[in-house]
Parts: sequence; structure tokens; C-alpha cells
Amino acid sequence: MVEGDRGNLLRVEDLQAMSPYEWGILRDSISNRHTGGEGISMLCMKCKHPVYIRAYNSFGMTLPGFVHFDGSPTWCQWYQGKNRTPDSLKAQQYNGQQESPEHEMLCDKIGELAALDKRYIRHAINKYHKPKHNENARKPDVYVEWEEYGPFVIELQLSSTFQTEISGRCTYYSKERIPLIWVLHNIHEYVSIPQSVKDVVRRHRNNAFVIDRDSIRGSYDKNTLVFKRYLLSGDSFDSPELVTIDSLTVPEKQTLPYHEDHLAPALRAKIDDRRLPFFTFFKQWKKKSTHPKDIKRILDTLKEQVPEDFIFMIAATFSIVATLSTGIDKNYASNDPNVRAMLNSYFNGNRLARYADMMEFILGRVKPTSSTCPDITTHAVNRNIALRKDDTEQVGIESKEWKAMEWLLPEVFDECERELLRFTEQLPCWVQE
Ligand SMILES: [Zn+2]
Repeated sequence: MVEGDRGNLLRVEDLQAMSPYEWGILRDSISNRHTGGEGISMLCMKCKHPVYIRAYNSFGMTLPGFVHFDGSPTWCQWYQGKNRTPDSLKAQQYNGQQESPEHEMLCDKIGELAALDKRYIRHAINKYHKPKHNENARKPDVYVEWEEYGPFVIELQLSSTFQTEISGRCTYYSKERIPLIWVLHNIHEYVSIPQSVKDVVRRHRNNAFVIDRDSIRGSYDKNTLVFKRYLLSGDSFDSPELVTIDSLTVPEKQTLPYHEDHLAPALRAKIDDRRLPFFTFFKQWKKKSTHPKDIKRILDTLKEQVPEDFIFMIAATFSIVATLSTGIDKNYASNDPNVRAMLNSYFNGNRLARYADMMEFILGRVKPTSSTCPDITTHAVNRNIALRKDDTEQVGIESKEWKAMEWLLPEVFDECERELLRFTEQLPCWVQE
């Protein structure tokens, strides 16, 4: 169960059908929330205990699955026993030491390169950072201060850093408003890219920042910190390029810089592409006098088979989206002059009566984008919706119509897709966060 106003069911099949980037972001988001940051929460259907997403290797493929967080009840049929704690695993990894000698050497090198820049003020290696917006201090691998640029932090990702560790650090530095760059080393040694590496690379919008001989030489040439940047494409690293820290973009909320956003635009485009055929259709249809054959043709692009009349609900919804996003009254659903009048007449009558609850849900999750944005509802509209909810049986969240809306308007209906957009800072301005 994905937590939300009404929640969504996310079956493991649905999770596994997502792209690795999508389930990866959801995994990041769950961990962020768990480590005190913003994010999404998912619960086990049986015992209602929170779960996280674990990556499993199966026949050379990485598949996501759900695992209970610690402390789940043993009676749950999906109880998997006690989780191993990151600390006990870490102790095993380095024979009891928490860090490797190679790690220390690279931190020193990065500090030395950061000092080449003329803006250099100071740096510190493995020293506690005094937090301004967090409770507990953290020890960054390399902390650097440059004049004008401000402070930034570099964490080395050498072997497998744990998801909770990655998440904790990302959340910490985002709250402190300090850019955090995860740096990789020896990536050519990977036979297949470990999940923990993909995890940090995805947080940099699929940019992998590497320190190697070329980037060190580049740093001395340019007298500033230079990394070799690769783009993660599926299971391989492509397009290496030497980049300076100044060429990176730092997102507003999650302060993990990228050189080229190789992740977010595709998530947004996927949703816009679904809606485009409908917008094109609505711009030229003849509303109530449209031939049923034409209505059927456009409804057939949906995965769910919905009643023909549902096209008017979609048209009404798209009118709301268009009005809010352009700030100008748009009405694709009727011949009324605006959305308010259209909603008023539709919910006064029977045509959309069984979608009153669905409409109320939509209206509760959208918002005006400016002070001059036209009103979507009026007192009369709200009253009609309440009356129809009372006197007509409503379609529920398990209906085909609801599922169709989850797909067409995920920003409102689908908690996971909403989270993918929020996480990548792309939730449209007409949606309530
Ligand atoms: Zn359970």
C-alpha cells in the first residue's frame, strides 16, 4: 500500500514492470523518508508494517522486491526474519575497520586538488561537520569551502555503501543546502555495475562522477576540481567527458548536482505523451454531437475499457488542467463559457453523476497557479457535487474509470508517479504537493 489520501495498491508485479530508474527513485524516496527526509511511505498489505524496496539479483537481472523494515510482526505471512544491520555488514567488509586505506588516499588527493582553485579557503577530511538544520552531525569524506561558491562535500563511493547510508547523507546535506557529490573510482573493474553504485549515480540524474588519472591531470591543467563524468544508460557507462564543478547544476531541493539531466525529462515526457492524443482530440471534437465511433477510437488508447460517457469526464478534467496551467478559461467538455459553468451543468444533471466523488478528489488536489487564474469551482458546483455523491452510487478506486484516470492524470491519482515527479522537482505548479 502506498500511503496517500486514498493510497494506491502497488503489487510487486507492477513494481517489477517499472524501469530500473523508476523503482530506483521510489526506493530512494522510501529511504529518504526513513532517514528523516521527505519521501514516500509504503506499508505491507498484511501487517501494515512499513516496507522498503530491495534489489535482488536473479539470473543476471536485478529485480526489485518489498522487504519489511525492522520490527515487523513475526505472524505476517511475508515475514522474512531479522534484517542485518548496515554496521554489522560494514564491519565484515573491511575486517572490522570502517574504511579502507585506498579510501583515505583518495580523500587526501581530492583535498589537494580542491586546494588548486584560486577560490580555495579550506578543506577538511573525515571531520565532523557542525549542522545548522540537522540534529546529529555527520563526518563528510571531504568538506571544501571556496569563496563565492560556498561549501560543498565529496563522498567517495568505493565498495558498497548501504542504501540507508547513501540516503542519510543525501538528506543531511540537502537540509544543510550543501552540494554533495558522490565520486566513484575504478569503475572499469565492474563486471556489472553494483546496485549501490547505480543508486548514487541515479541520485545525480544518472551522471557518474569519477576520479581517475585523466581527471587528476585535468584538475592540475585547469587549477580546479575536475571529474570524469559518465552517463549511466541501462547497465553501462557512456559518454565520458571531463567536467569542472562549476559546470554542474545543483537542483533546488536535493542538492545533488548533475552535468546533464539524463533522468528527469523522460519521466515528465512519458506523462505528457499519454495526454497529447486526448488534448489533440478535444481541440477539434464536436462534444455531444461527436460520432460514437470517434469517441470509441480515442478511448481505445486507454488500457482500461471505460464507458463511452466517461469521455466527458476526461474532457472536464482536461479543461481543469488546461485552465489552471494556462491561466485562461478552457472548456473542452461542453458549450458553456467556462469550466465553472460546465461543471455546474454536468453535476446538476445525471451524465457525470457517478463521478462526483472522483471530481471532488481532483478538485481537492489541484490549485490555482496565480492570483489571476480563473476560479474552477463555485459554491453551486460544490453543492451539486455533494448532492450527486448523496443520491448516486459512485465509482470507487478499484473501478476501470479510476484506473484510467491514474494513468491519464497521475499527478493527481497515482502516488508513485506523483512521487517520481516530486523527487525530480517536476510536479506541475497546478498540483498540490
Ligand atoms: Zn507484513
